[in-house]
Amino acid sequence: MDWTRGHTIGRGSFATVSVATSRWSDDIFAVKSTELSQSEFLQREQKILSSLSCSHIVTYKGYDITRENNKLMYNLLMEYVPGGTLTDAVHRRGGRLDESVIGYYTRQIVEGLDYLHSSGIVHCDIKGRNILIGESGAKIADLGSAKWLNPVAGGGVRKVAAAPISGTPMFMSPEVARGEEQGFPADIWAVGCTVIEMTTGGSPWPNATDPVSVLYRIAFSGELPEFPDFLSDQAKDFLSKCLMRDPKQRWTAEELLKHPFLGEFNSLPKQSQDFDSNSPTSILDQNLWNSTEESEIVGDLVQTSSWNSPAQRIRGLSSSSISSNWTWDDDWITVRSNNGEEGNSVSDCGSVTALISDEMELEDSVRIEDSAYFLDSNVK
Ligand code: ATP
Repeated sequence: MDWTRGHTIGRGSFATVSVATSRWSDDIFAVKSTELSQSEFLQREQKILSSLSCSHIVTYKGYDITRENNKLMYNLLMEYVPGGTLTDAVHRRGGRLDESVIGYYTRQIVEGLDYLHSSGIVHCDIKGRNILIGESGAKIADLGSAKWLNPVAGGGVRKVAAAPISGTPMFMSPEVARGEEQGFPADIWAVGCTVIEMTTGGSPWPNATDPVSVLYRIAFSGELPEFPDFLSDQAKDFLSKCLMRDPKQRWTAEELLKHPFLGEFNSLPKQSQDFDSNSPTSILDQNLWNSTEESEIVGDLVQTSSWNSPAQRIRGLSSSSISSNWTWDDDWITVRSNNGEEGNSVSDCGSVTALISDEMELEDSVRIEDSAYFLDSNVK
């Protein structure tokens, strides 16, 4: 597709998202871009997103490679969702959504997850910042951490051997925080955490002192996040089905869709419709295109790989991306690396532990994309 880049609408830890318009029509879409040489994660997201079709998951529109400012850029084209993230919506409402709105958005998130899970995919990073709000409600976005689970004979799925564990510590389930497994129930735990986010405007672990200690607390303390007092009994019961420490006891997305809390909310209460009135819905709406670059499509993508060993990964992470590039406006920080290798030494884990605690403020979060980085109860 021939398109023109408009202004930046979001920055993640490894990509920038801009609005874009087709050169041949008034269609607006979103384009998530990163330099081709660092596009491994975006290419993985493209593979997964392109296989999906669900009204509660952001719609795939294609991908291409362009040359901009003498750099090759890998671009993932998606439907543009105008209302910002769920986290933005919660903040716009003073940090707490009405229970009816929480139920409405939660129903859509769980419908999206039910579709993903029945397609054999775990999202791995459900949280308010990865849910976008459009005219038809909530849509799951940012499938950059998502992974397929392997089908097994006789139906069902099993975990991919040595698949990296990833996510955002505040939203991680106990089994993920321990680095044991990351299956469908991990997404359900994160739904519970996201309901708390919608209810309080804050994290599920509000008294946590830093991301490393929160990981230990989730993994080993036996505690659950606190259920907000003012929620109805039905909403609390729903939360209790999501936030079971044992993943086998946690309800599936399919089961949650039958929970009475979600049964009530098939449409958004009128007074709660919550779109940013400045959000563009057509090319004519606002001055979207001031920083437009001409793009040149240069052909098929090239697979690249940056860091090859745990030591290189840690050096790369600590020397560059975290401290220098990503402190600008975001209190969520992602640590990503190539797929993990086995047999990493305790000193690697120790370095990462030190990296997280030394570099980060209390409110920062980390996404750890390699089970090599995961902590066990002996490394602190
Ligand atoms: P993260 O650090 O969470 O991994 P990321 O690099 O994967 O982030 P995204 O979360 O996909 O990037 O996008 C970053 C931001 O861009 C989002 O929080 C949102 O504000 C905006 N955004 C992303 N996709 C869209 C879209 N399809 N429509 C509108 N805005 C979007």
